[in-house]
Amino acid sequence: MSSDNGTVVVVEDDPHIADLVDLYLRREGYRVLLAGDGEQGLELCRREGPSMVVLDVGLPGNRDGFEVCREIRNRSSVPVLFLTARDDEFDRVLGLELGADDYLVKPFSPRELVARVRAILRRTREGPAPQDVVTVGDFEVDLRRREARHAGEVVALTTREFDLLAFLVDNTGLALSRQQLLDGVWGPDWYGDERTVDVHVAQLRKKLGADLPLATVWGVGYRFG
Ligand code: CA
Repeated sequence: MSSDNGTVVVVEDDPHIADLVDLYLRREGYRVLLAGDGEQGLELCRREGPSMVVLDVGLPGNRDGFEVCREIRNRSSVPVLFLTARDDEFDRVLGLELGADDYLVKPFSPRELVARVRAILRRTREGPAPQDVVTVGDFEVDLRRREARHAGEVVALTTREFDLLAFLVDNTGLALSRQQLLDGVWGPDWYGDERTVDVHVAQLRKKLGADLPLATVWGVGYRFG
């Protein structure tokens, strides 16, 4: 099988787990790059622009997985799946605030890992064709690199924030209801509240600035452009 399914950077210091993850992901056709600590992981992310990062929370050296995730988020909205030991007291809320997409508690079944990776990549790949850069005023949304730029500067967005922005951009000029946005960005299986959309829109406005051409359409939802 080729590695056309994308590149996954795996940051894990336990060689046994790293080998297992490597084996299973390669078998699914992913190109896998292994890093044993946060520094190496960040270097690989910068150099390779992976489709996804699998990130252990407990890492040697001066950066744990949370710190690494925070640094990744400063420059990219690449999806992140955390791996955590049962006794790490994994802080799910902190993980999600940092923009992680999912997490798995060790020991996990490799099949479960593969299923999660596949689901996350499927979700982030749906939507607009991945080669366009859309420019509106000072704003650029690079759908292939998954970067949003304002006046030439990259703005750090979480995966979900970027997906929401990409969906809005893909439907420029259309008033979209909160339910349409939930279905399009979070997917039909997502269970939650329409206010989630408002929270993410508020984050986009905060991060990208008041000039962002994203209008609230009273009684409907939101419109880009
Ligand atoms: Ca570890």
